Amino acid sequence: MVIQPKIRGFICTNAHPVGCEVNVQKQIDYVKQQESSSKGPKNVLVLGCSTGYGLASRIVSAFGHGAKTLGVCFEKEPSERKTGTAGWYNTAAFHDKAKAEGLYARTLNGDAFSNEMKRDVIEAIKQDLGKVDLVVYSLASPRRTDPNSGETFKSVLKPIGQAYSTKTYDTDKDLVHTIDLEPATEEEIRQTVKVMGGEDWEMWIDALDQAGVLTEGAITTAYTYIGKELTWPIYGHATIGKAKEDLDRAASAINTSKADKNVKAYVSSLKALVTQASSAIPVMPLYISLIYKVMKEEGTHEGCIEQIQGLFNEKLFDANPDTDEANRLRMDGKETNEATQAKIKALWDQVTQENFHQLSDYAGYHQEFLHLFGFGFDEVDYDADVSPLADW
Ligand code: NAD
Repeated sequence: MVIQPKIRGFICTNAHPVGCEVNVQKQIDYVKQQESSSKGPKNVLVLGCSTGYGLASRIVSAFGHGAKTLGVCFEKEPSERKTGTAGWYNTAAFHDKAKAEGLYARTLNGDAFSNEMKRDVIEAIKQDLGKVDLVVYSLASPRRTDPNSGETFKSVLKPIGQAYSTKTYDTDKDLVHTIDLEPATEEEIRQTVKVMGGEDWEMWIDALDQAGVLTEGAITTAYTYIGKELTWPIYGHATIGKAKEDLDRAASAINTSKADKNVKAYVSSLKALVTQASSAIPVMPLYISLIYKVMKEEGTHEGCIEQIQGLFNEKLFDANPDTDEANRLRMDGKETNEATQAKIKALWDQVTQENFHQLSDYAGYHQEFLHLFGFGFDEVDYDADVSPLADW
């Protein structure tokens, strides 16, 4: 099969197996070139292990620290006629590369929100690892079915309290325009918190603890985005921000309830970058195209793998890491500092349909977007006939 990108709106509906392998290999190469701290995990559970920040967490654990990794993801398998999702191919590539280096890897594909998946993971830990000393919670999902009530909740990306009009960039139509976002209802806020808040993270840690598969002093982290004034109306102070606030509550609840085992739970705040999750959020493609421009000029641009390598090396395994007022680990300072934000704000105020491509780094944004699906790599022949099949 010859596989060329099929882009529909903010998503690419296919993926290239060879390109996804290149994407994984580049991240592994980066980690191997870095000096990883001697403090690090041994047995790691990554929830949301197949793309974005979760995949980077798995790669840093395995190739930076030699850890055994058990991953959970929700990806679509390929068939003879249809490609799998990028996360499927990333996972297949990760397994190949881990195996080649004698690193244990196991991945369970299915719904991480379900009780069945929690049971299967506990079984796998007991069989293969005994216990885990790090649990990374990196799920990004538009919906969640409560495993006990069976009710399905949907998240929305809406402001809270009042309607909000803002600039945005439509990647499909190459159009800078204004969008009007209506405020969320109380019910929409509640549902978003149910999907992207901390309830499922707590359920995971409780289930692992009750099964006796967490080590004494185990660490767990969930990822958040805080951002600044430009993104607050649609992110930080909006429905998704409310859900992320609930992660702070969950971290504190885990720290209290698991204090006897010395389990440490942190919310880690990471920078904005192109992933499948962020490209679906209005305003983000415009904001990210502008921060790429500014941060590349400043020499501070980072992707998922650089952020996670930094988090693991500098903060997560420190006995007393620097935290913010809400006990969060902050890796977003190079994006959110006043000087950088002022430059981004100046561009934001100037940007129009006419000057968008000069003022922004949309080319960089788009290239990273293609890379997410294994497209746009010079070293891959996209006219070649390749098998879409892959497994692990
Ligand atoms: P992503 O879309 O790249 O990854 C999501 C992962 O979750 C995938 O591995 C997917 O398979 C898995 N997943 C989704 N639903 C699942 C389910 N029901 N069961 C099992 N697995 C499931 O997203 P990302 O951008 O890497 O986001 C990960 C976390 O990082 C999120 O909490 C997000 O808010 C946070 N974050 C993202 C950014 C950003 O700019 N992208 C910035 C800061 C923080």
